[in-house]
Amino acid sequence: MSHVWCHGPSCHTYSTQDRVRGSKGSKVLRTRKIKINNNGWPSGFYQYFCSNSCYNNFADKHAEQIIRIAPRHEPLETPIEDPKKETHESRYGGYSYTHTVIKKIDNDSNVG
Ligand SMILES: [Zn+2]
Repeated sequence: MSHVWCHGPSCHTYSTQDRVRGSKGSKVLRTRKIKINNNGWPSGFYQYFCSNSCYNNFADKHAEQIIRIAPRHEPLETPIEDPKKETHESRYGGYSYTHTVIKKIDNDSNVG
């Protein structure tokens, strides 16, 4: 078991009971500690952030630096078949609805 302090820049400002630390007369709200167990859980960004809010705050604050890791100058494309319109009867009758079917062409070259 190891631990990591949440990387959310505002984690220590949220008023929740579990963040209260310190002795009477000198209480603080403290950044949450994330416990990582021996199986490496939690994984992904949950190893570094206690919540989606903290992750989002970090991403907002450091967006420019994060984008520099993998900047995108061209759009990506996923090959598809020509879209088809399909009309369906509702299960209980009385009305029908139409939707457009978009099928991806199966290959592995569209990952990126
Ligand atoms: Zn946090």
